[in-house]
Amino acid sequence: MCGIVGYVGSRDATPLLVNGLRRLEYRGYDSAGVAVQEDGRLEIRRAEGKLDNLVHVIAAQPLSGRSGIGHTRWATHGRPSEQNAHPHVDCGGVTAVIHNGIIENFEELKGPLVKAGHRFTSETDTEVVVHMLEDELKKGMSLEAAALAVVPRLEGAAALAFVSAKDPGKIVAARVANAGGVIVGYGQGENYLASDIPALLEHTRSVSFVEPGEFAVITANGVRFLDRGGKEIEKTRTTITWDTVTAAKSGYKHFMLKEIHEQPRVLSDTLLGRVERATGRVVFDEDLKLTDAQVRSLGRITLLGCGTAGFASLAGKYLIERLARIPCDVEIPSEYRYRDPVVSKDQLVVSLTQSGETVDTLAAMEEARKRGARLLTIVNVIGSQAARMSDDVIYLHAGPEISVASTKAYTTMLVDLYLFGIYLGQRRGTLDPNAAAKLLAEVFHLPTLVDAVLREEPKVKALAYRYHQARDFLYLGRGINYPTALEGAHKLKELSYSHAEGTAGGEMKHGMNALIDESLPVVAIALRDSIYKKMLSTIQEVRARAGVVIAVADDDDEDIAEHATEVIRVPHTNELLSPALAVVPLHLFAYHVADRRGNDVDQPRNLAKAVTVE
Ligand code: GLU
Repeated sequence: MCGIVGYVGSRDATPLLVNGLRRLEYRGYDSAGVAVQEDGRLEIRRAEGKLDNLVHVIAAQPLSGRSGIGHTRWATHGRPSEQNAHPHVDCGGVTAVIHNGIIENFEELKGPLVKAGHRFTSETDTEVVVHMLEDELKKGMSLEAAALAVVPRLEGAAALAFVSAKDPGKIVAARVANAGGVIVGYGQGENYLASDIPALLEHTRSVSFVEPGEFAVITANGVRFLDRGGKEIEKTRTTITWDTVTAAKSGYKHFMLKEIHEQPRVLSDTLLGRVERATGRVVFDEDLKLTDAQVRSLGRITLLGCGTAGFASLAGKYLIERLARIPCDVEIPSEYRYRDPVVSKDQLVVSLTQSGETVDTLAAMEEARKRGARLLTIVNVIGSQAARMSDDVIYLHAGPEISVASTKAYTTMLVDLYLFGIYLGQRRGTLDPNAAAKLLAEVFHLPTLVDAVLREEPKVKALAYRYHQARDFLYLGRGINYPTALEGAHKLKELSYSHAEGTAGGEMKHGMNALIDESLPVVAIALRDSIYKKMLSTIQEVRARAGVVIAVADDDDEDIAEHATEVIRVPHTNELLSPALAVVPLHLFAYHVADRRGNDVDQPRNLAKAVTVE
């Protein structure tokens, strides 16, 4: 988690750092801080809570300097407070560190430092690093030499950046294992550092990614990259195509609302160029290297994803099994990596992650790779760690997703999974050409249908306002919309702080029915699909127990109003594709319940985007 930024050049660093942090605030908002440095002095400002608090502190006590680093924190060790806010400084107040991740052996490292007389002022795991650096810098080394001496002694996953008045005009950044991103941005006579691309976009599109085990030494006139032995390494530069406009709110009250409304456009982007005209076959670009022979010999697919990406994985299982007849299982990455999984040679591991930085997912991928699996990732952020470590990559092309609660990344994951399922079915002969062509036509119609669902927003908002005070909610779905129910409940929980549960409709009678009473709104996905009748029976069972049912139904379903208390309508589409439509009103519902309650929708409490800690 957490956001890291850095600047070295000839301009005043503070406003640039604060601006960069503004773009990364979604990554953590327990505290924020900056350290700037010039003429042999280092100054820091820190504040508990959101970035605006830091802005007030800086306004009251301005600071200046032409290089510096900044941080927004998502606390893991030590409560959110000014004292625990990064940057942390050494005893002399001349060297500062910011850190993303967890230093697992910090206690072992701290003991000897305390004994040697170092004064600790925070409860964080991070602070040990700056005292260790202090010892090295005292020996007269450069900042990078000190970093090379200290960083290899750290265990866990960490992205770190250092500045020191002892070695001015320089930032040294390091990445230990798969902690959050460390990205260097190139300017003219100035250079930048950030943990995520949105913080760099207004300055540059030209970037390099720092890999685990690597160091970057950033000055105004150039950037050097070193391996852990201190040997210089060549880095390629990548050009980022997103622009600042897509990374801004564009008049919407929240990023989440903007991202929900962007879906018709981004789903079209996801689909662009992915069907070969002449053959009608789904094709991916050169980032997908699987050969047709390899596709035919696949014996099993394991899908990995955390949170919302996990629900997309579950939908992926339903549809890949249906379209390509390959057995699939879905795994929680943080469980998978520690449970000695069985991996076979004919197994493909498909990971789903918006950021491509999710540490649990990356660790599970590594585990699978060690055991011989081929890795494919479905990911949004171009050049992210998940993309770099996979054999095959399918991009979402969703543009930057800033809201902590994922929406357009979910629907674009679904679209990529539809395409991938059809791709597999076409190559394995489990999908006849006519069925594939018909399904693809329906997939390509999804952006238009999502647009139609978005026009229902006033109705969904009215329902959200009617039920926003409920303490608990239940979400029901069956078949391929079982994951939709899980995702609907998940989104409501994280945004509204109400308790919500998603379950498979058929499971109600095995326990959940006991919860039903007039105070529990039940959101039921009741589309006219192969199990529509079963879902109607479940709805009736809920109504018979005085429950309130909000049904998500097909727009031409005339019977549903008789059964449900409230109805939200979506256009009819192929059953397999229906999750991409049914989830849209559920996202809008969660948004409006949370907004009506006055919650901070884009930055829900205790959460952060790009989960780079275990
Ligand atoms: N472990 C560090 C802390 O608690 C860094 C957390 C982060 O990634 O924001 O301060």
